[in-house]
Amino acid sequence: MRRAMCVIAVLTVGLLPATGWANGEAGVLALVHGLLIDGTGAEPVEDGVVIIRDRRIVAVGSASEIEIPEDAEVLDVGGGAILPGFINAHVHDGYSESNLRAWARGGVTTVRDLGTQFRWTSSSVSVFADRDRLNADVRNARLVAAGPLVTTVGGYGGYAVTSPEDARDKVNGLIDGGANIIKVAIEDNLQGRRWPMLTLGEIRAIVETAHTRDIRVAAHVSRSVHVEMALDASVDDVNHMAVDSVSGGLIARMVDRGMAWVPTLELWEGVSRRYGLSWDRIAAGNLLRFVEAGGIVALGTDYAGYTTPFDLGMPITEIRLMSDAGMTPMQLIEAATRNAAIVCGLGDDVGTLEPGKIADVIVVDGNPLDDLQALGSVLVVVRDGVVIRDDR
Ligand SMILES: [Zn+2]
Repeated sequence: MRRAMCVIAVLTVGLLPATGWANGEAGVLALVHGLLIDGTGAEPVEDGVVIIRDRRIVAVGSASEIEIPEDAEVLDVGGGAILPGFINAHVHDGYSESNLRAWARGGVTTVRDLGTQFRWTSSSVSVFADRDRLNADVRNARLVAAGPLVTTVGGYGGYAVTSPEDARDKVNGLIDGGANIIKVAIEDNLQGRRWPMLTLGEIRAIVETAHTRDIRVAAHVSRSVHVEMALDASVDDVNHMAVDSVSGGLIARMVDRGMAWVPTLELWEGVSRRYGLSWDRIAAGNLLRFVEAGGIVALGTDYAGYTTPFDLGMPITEIRLMSDAGMTPMQLIEAATRNAAIVCGLGDDVGTLEPGKIADVIVVDGNPLDDLQALGSVLVVVRDGVVIRDDR
């Protein structure tokens, strides 16, 4: 109990560093009596236990295998499901404390912002300082930030490059400034108009520059031809499910290369409803064929990426749409945890309940493998080992 009070006191002043307990004091927390769904796709474990020491998970398993340390604060989750914190791998308006609070309270402990919506200049890198300030408060969802959407002059996006050399300089500038991810636009036909596109040589220069510095590249796409270019340039993940029918050959190439897809079905549902299009149905069909072929899917919604409404907090609409498309509850949970962590560049740190991972953990009321609606009933949220929500 003493520790719980300490947490409240620290959170009230909002100064807790993301690196863990104030003064480096190691606290021990034991979540007990939960159904463990660890994000790896493994079978769930009944009467599961998660032990957290300082900010890391140190043990996970069934109550019969795991010893609860004597100094642990025990948090009985009463049969709820224990999962990794969910991750929304495609949002905008991420540099907002109120948004980050809402995501975290809703069980989304990390978000990836894939593009500020203003015209980027060299001084815009100050947004990365905003990110660091926001990330220092564990009540906020962790923000992974791309900065701008890199494009060509007059193209779709907010930061134009004019040649492969210019692309290298500007991508290096973004990474020097603190970008976690590089986002590139591959788009020639959207929002009712034609757009000039980056050349393949420019996209390759962007990707090579980022990869040299161990930074991943995410691409905006909307059609198969854009995905082909992304593959040719070794982009790591493509965002928005294609709204033309994707060929089996293209899916096979993507699976072979391990290229991830972030479908953003919530975006396509909103756009399709507004304009009477069938893009949502085409996207759902492509998604199912990609999943059945063994493709890696990461959950992302495009929150605030368009004028249609989006869920803030648990992305329950996206989850419903992925389920309606034919993904199983387990595939969906993997997409929202392990796979989303990978596309954020955080695959070694978060996304699964495994020893050594940062303790981003949620508890929901019910078994989401039986009823996905349970994901909308978040009881407990732990970020960086700190209980930031407890509504048991
Ligand atoms: Zn977007």
